[in-house]
Amino acid sequence: MNSAFAQPLFPFPGKGEIYIKIYIKDNTDLIHLSKIVSIDSKTKPESTNVYAYANKTDFINLLKSGYSFEILKHPADLSNEAKMFSGFFKEIYTWDAYPAYSSYVDLMYSFQNNYSHLCKIHKTGVSVQGRDILFAKITNTLNDVIKPRVLLCSSIHGDEPVGYVTLLRMCDYLLSHYGTDTDITNLLNSVEIWINPLANPDGTYAGGNNTLNGATRFNANYVDLNRNFSDFVHGEHSDGNTTQLENLAVIRLTDSLQFVMGATLHSGAEVLNYPWDNQPGLHADDAWWQYVSKAYADTVFAHSQSGYFTGLSSTGYINGYQWYMISGGKQDYLNYYKHMRELTLEISNTKIPDASLLPYFWEANYRSLINYAKEAQNGIQGLVSDSATNQPIRAKISIQNHDNNNSFVYSDSITGRFFRPIYAGTYDVNFSKNTFQEKILMINTYNGTAAFYSVSLAHTSGMNEESLFSDITIFPNPVSDNILIKTGSSDIISEINLFNLHGISINPKTQPETISGNQFIIDVSTVPSGLYFLKGTRSNKSFVKKINILNKN
Ligand SMILES: [Zn+2]
Repeated sequence: MNSAFAQPLFPFPGKGEIYIKIYIKDNTDLIHLSKIVSIDSKTKPESTNVYAYANKTDFINLLKSGYSFEILKHPADLSNEAKMFSGFFKEIYTWDAYPAYSSYVDLMYSFQNNYSHLCKIHKTGVSVQGRDILFAKITNTLNDVIKPRVLLCSSIHGDEPVGYVTLLRMCDYLLSHYGTDTDITNLLNSVEIWINPLANPDGTYAGGNNTLNGATRFNANYVDLNRNFSDFVHGEHSDGNTTQLENLAVIRLTDSLQFVMGATLHSGAEVLNYPWDNQPGLHADDAWWQYVSKAYADTVFAHSQSGYFTGLSSTGYINGYQWYMISGGKQDYLNYYKHMRELTLEISNTKIPDASLLPYFWEANYRSLINYAKEAQNGIQGLVSDSATNQPIRAKISIQNHDNNNSFVYSDSITGRFFRPIYAGTYDVNFSKNTFQEKILMINTYNGTAAFYSVSLAHTSGMNEESLFSDITIFPNPVSDNILIKTGSSDIISEINLFNLHGISINPKTQPETISGNQFIIDVSTVPSGLYFLKGTRSNKSFVKKINILNKN
């Protein structure tokens, strides 16, 4: 089966990557194999055939690894040249051709020119070969409302351009329906949508700016951009490469602006893939993921031919790790490091289908994409401010006994606004910030609506920071029954207060009992177990110590 040497592979193909089918023993091989090649897909989770891409180094390592494999025709070695659109006027584009690179750039700027109150193009970086990384920010800019941000990207794999045309068309659809379609008008009045149709332009146009023949999965450095992000399980550079320019363009954007939700479109399969990809543990919001995934898939089923979006999973969606593990992916990066809700959409089994089919993929997916974007407004949202100044603050909003792996969110440092999509339920929501007293609210949420909370946090007057004179010792800690305080001098400790973590005094103005000249005892046997601040005063100066009380009550 190892047919590598039957084919003229060295010198390596000019495009720098090959497409291969690898035979594995079982899924335990995937962890090892994913460090050698870029795994593209499996036809079924239990399948022992793995489709993958390899650059020259990957291929040499694959030869050494001993896996059996077969070299396949590259998906972008097209028998028939894909139909291209190379005009400069949107009016003559009927979305049944792939745009030439210059037409793409021109279309993006024409959105801004034609709809200046709704669209602004942001160039956040350039590719390795200097092509533009463009985002269309689409929202009603005239209403003075702080909106949740949604990020839609496509074609981080250059030879998967179906989502590229789909998202380009989405820009046009949103802009041209604002003001006439109530649904779209409401959406752009309440959500800010950022669209990057082409995340890897060097890959898509590796064969030239006017063709998709010769497109590559990798960027011009032969790097799979979707294995090149920091990974909280597998490490900062799990692919062994520095962070690529194309990825820096999206990292910079999400560093500077807080996004609530996102999706990245691919082709090569037909399924919605939700977190995590890098580990088997479930995301804290697994119920929410299944809820939005089912909504997406069911709407696709209602607007497509039977069989579409069911090849991998009859429901149309799958947990990423259950399909196949990847590391360094964009989805997990945005979920973990940017506290977003980001999923992966595979919308066409054929990577580069005949361009006449592009309207079909649009028709099948656009309603689902719009409905998904609407979810950014739902769940729990609100405003966090400083109770003393009323100024907005950046606070951490986490759900007790629910959040894990950074699934909590922050309020925006400038606006104080936060958005937390979550499945219907009753949650204890914790609002916290260093040097502020935390607040815990019990909040009921319902699917499809938002619960709005305005929360103000009070300063703790430094109480959450310990300060102690060097000659004072307080022990034992943890403590039950009695706390003993020893001082190095015979100064009287005039006052002792015990505060809970909310800053509320639980035994005001207790005089410690003096047991000798410099030893004092405090009876805490009736205090409920928990963390407390012990605040005392000596010679008009106070000291604070965090105490863990463990009583049997
Ligand atoms: Zn892909």
